[in-house]
Amino acid sequence: MYRRIVIVDGYNDEPAGLGVPPYIDVYPRLVAGAVWLANKDVDIIYWTIDEVRNNIGLFIDQARKSDLVVFIAGPEVPGKYIGGKPLSYKDAEKLSFLLKDTFKILVGPAARYGFGVGGGSVAVERKILYRIFDELVYGDPEIYFYNLVKYGVEKAEPWKLREDYELANKALIHGAKIIKQHPNHGWNLIVEIETFRGCPRWIVGGCSFCIEPRYGRPLMRKPEDIVKEVEQLYRFGARHFRIGRQPDILAYMGKGVGEREYPEPNVEALKKLFHGIRNVASGLRVLHIDNVNPGTIIHNPEKSIKALKTIVKYHTPGDVAALGIESFDEKVVRMNNLKVYPDEALVVIRIINEIGKHRGWNGLPHLLPGINLLYGLPGETKNTFRTNYEYLKKIYREGLLIRRINIRKVSVLENTPLWMHRKTVEQLLRKHRRLYNIYRVKIMNEIDRGMLQRIAPINSIIRYLYTEKHMGEYTIARQPASYPIIVKIPGKLPLKKIVDIRVRKIAAKSIIATIT
Ligand code: SF4
Repeated sequence: MYRRIVIVDGYNDEPAGLGVPPYIDVYPRLVAGAVWLANKDVDIIYWTIDEVRNNIGLFIDQARKSDLVVFIAGPEVPGKYIGGKPLSYKDAEKLSFLLKDTFKILVGPAARYGFGVGGGSVAVERKILYRIFDELVYGDPEIYFYNLVKYGVEKAEPWKLREDYELANKALIHGAKIIKQHPNHGWNLIVEIETFRGCPRWIVGGCSFCIEPRYGRPLMRKPEDIVKEVEQLYRFGARHFRIGRQPDILAYMGKGVGEREYPEPNVEALKKLFHGIRNVASGLRVLHIDNVNPGTIIHNPEKSIKALKTIVKYHTPGDVAALGIESFDEKVVRMNNLKVYPDEALVVIRIINEIGKHRGWNGLPHLLPGINLLYGLPGETKNTFRTNYEYLKKIYREGLLIRRINIRKVSVLENTPLWMHRKTVEQLLRKHRRLYNIYRVKIMNEIDRGMLQRIAPINSIIRYLYTEKHMGEYTIARQPASYPIIVKIPGKLPLKKIVDIRVRKIAAKSIIATIT
């Protein structure tokens, strides 16, 4: 019999899904919803790991009086976020020691893949995590927690994955009210919404580094189920939504999944989804997307253009289509079964610019491409760094806009094709460490800065930012958005307030501004 459960959100950051504040991802909502579905009287107390650090005494007291404590964890690069500091393995060890008599369960990517440190390695493997947690739920949390509360621990299977969205849909609706306990609720909270899981490219094996194809055939949520969830979240005060939990929003309900590597975008389904969300959440302030597979656009240009225009019609400006281009080096593309060749990537960037570059009410272009680049992939040579840089220069010279260039070292996960080549990856990362750092800075100074100047020119006005924290002599403010620009305002302003700003100066990754 469970009377009280404590959830500690240690945050997740996955390729398709973000739970670092101001985001709340599906995990706490699924856990709470499944528990309440099984027994509506269970008292669930939600803490973020930052709240735990700030008030450890009260937390320990509450946690010791509860029947179990659920930890959510799984950042790829811990410690580099404005909105919060993810749970580290050290935090987990310490809390586990303080709660040695309480049943502790780990949920999220850390339970599935171990605690990561990013850049090609897994720091703490799962078998070690069993020393500090009583259970690791590496299947879907709604199945485990529903069975745990309803039928007891012997019926709860931590490995079980969903075969459809029936239980998850119910859990997400029942769990929506947990957002009211989030410290960002009422100001800049962004709710991450899941539309499907699995990659349509699983039929060709997918990209070498990616775990998504291991789910097999993609599992889709119906638009009406997603809309119902948004309606419920809206009722509990959510005003900012990101439709970000899927590897490619254009493949949502796509035609030919299972037959084609790049399904044809289903414009009707996207319209039903985005229009439906607008209908039930008429006062929302942000509706953004995240990943877009550039291959979908290249192989279905007409339908993709219609799909992107549909998104732009219903979303809010300042949105980003994050393109997993990964590399502009043809050899790396070929050897890792990536999505598009360099010239195709250029075509995609032009298309998105054409559709999304006009400015909206908040002062930013509607929809811009973001680029992800990965280093350490087999086939990489010194020339890869030059080639990537040259392509980015070319994009810049053409006058195109890119909202952000995300440069990372690849993480090698078990059960991916890359696992067989992990030694090669390690060698490449070691060999090219210097080049990696040099080109990162070069791209930041020569391209990022120029792009930001185009997107937010000096003296332009950007609206609807929240003041989030004080840093030195500045107040940091950001829009609640898919990839918000970091704005530094001189002086210490009151926090959690909405401000409009005027751009005064551009740095590579941030701007300095004054209040209008
Ligand atoms: S296209 Fe590649 S990176 Fe994207 S989900 Fe599929 S396998 Fe993963």
